[in-house]
Amino acid sequence: MTKTVLVVNTGSSSVKFSLFESEKLNVLLKGKIEKLRFAPHIIIKNSQGVILYDDSWQPVSDETNHEIAFKHLINWLGQNIDEDSLLAVGHRVVHGGPKLSEPTLIDKDVLISLESLVPLMPLHQPHNLMAIREISRFYPNLRQVACFDTAFHRGHPKVADSFGLPREYYSDGIRRYGFHGISYDYITNTLKSTTPHIANGRVIIAHLGSGASLCAVKQGKSIDSTMSFSALDGLPMGTRCGNLDPGVILYLIREKGMTVDKVEELLYKHSGLRGMSGVSNDMRQLLNSDDPRAAEAIDYFVYCICKNLAAMTAALGGLDALIFTAGIGENSPDIRAKVCERASWLGIRYDRTANTNGSDCISKPDSNISVWVIPTNEELMIATQTVERIRSLH
Ligand code: ADP
Repeated sequence: MTKTVLVVNTGSSSVKFSLFESEKLNVLLKGKIEKLRFAPHIIIKNSQGVILYDDSWQPVSDETNHEIAFKHLINWLGQNIDEDSLLAVGHRVVHGGPKLSEPTLIDKDVLISLESLVPLMPLHQPHNLMAIREISRFYPNLRQVACFDTAFHRGHPKVADSFGLPREYYSDGIRRYGFHGISYDYITNTLKSTTPHIANGRVIIAHLGSGASLCAVKQGKSIDSTMSFSALDGLPMGTRCGNLDPGVILYLIREKGMTVDKVEELLYKHSGLRGMSGVSNDMRQLLNSDDPRAAEAIDYFVYCICKNLAAMTAALGGLDALIFTAGIGENSPDIRAKVCERASWLGIRYDRTANTNGSDCISKPDSNISVWVIPTNEELMIATQTVERIRSLH
């Protein structure tokens, strides 16, 4: 019987999942549950894009919407996938804390230690753990593996892992963890197999999606990243603010009388591209908009990318290659062009034609720094890590 691996990515407003065949890791089906808060909707397609399941229901409450959505998925799986064919489930877990740096087989103790990290990632980690619990309720004997967004960054030198706070705060876990690690791991592995001379050099990967960050990679290892303690730091994102003077938060609470919950909502949901433009958090809409506020938000996005590009270059002691990935990085020649133009002082010479015609290398031959567009595939990375972890048990 063909063994399969289910990959689950439970985010703050959606659940994405894929079923892979476990040998060659071909995708057998893919699905998504979206609009969890307002109009939940599940869609599952096979590898040819044929819709296998399409359903929607009424939301109930913020506390239960994720769980209800996940039950729809589990019911469908129960009716359509033979349990014996499932080798394992691989989960994206956003936080592994200071200790967990490898894909980890989940047992009761691991689950307890992941629960202890909820205060570090209150908007994301509880949903990841809910998915693990629901699967173990329905499939008590099925092995589950946690793949962490923080893991790829765990080798950061201490200087890049620290804030300027008294030492005891570091011991207490207040560190620059870094996220998007599954994506960075995937890109780094792809470079190793396609362009090993680049993989061994000094590389910045720009993961520019709804969430966005840069990662400085030296000889295949992350040494710094713009995201730090939470998913708010670094670049402005679809709805998140990016780097912000902590004094602003104190001011909002003390002078504007905002509660902690209100500040959290402001920084995570109403800031970034959406907040600055007042138009949208979707880069496509901003690029197509005539509203000057949309142009200003795009300017700020590009400005911050380039400022942080210089910071990551300093961490690396120079730069050999820049990689664009994720929704915006892969699909927007406009944003790539703006970044490359502003970063030309670094020695970047990008090729206008290559940038628009779908080439993977978009720099000119005389560019000091080669520039690439590499699609990320976090689901495939999770499937790979899950299968490797399960095989290592035998
Ligand atoms: P996530 O997986 O975090 O939801 P994605 O990696 O899918 O995010 O990226 C979503 C972002 O990519 C959105 O801002 C969307 O507008 C942007 N995007 C997707 N396609 C394009 C495109 N052709 N041009 C510009 N931006 C795009």
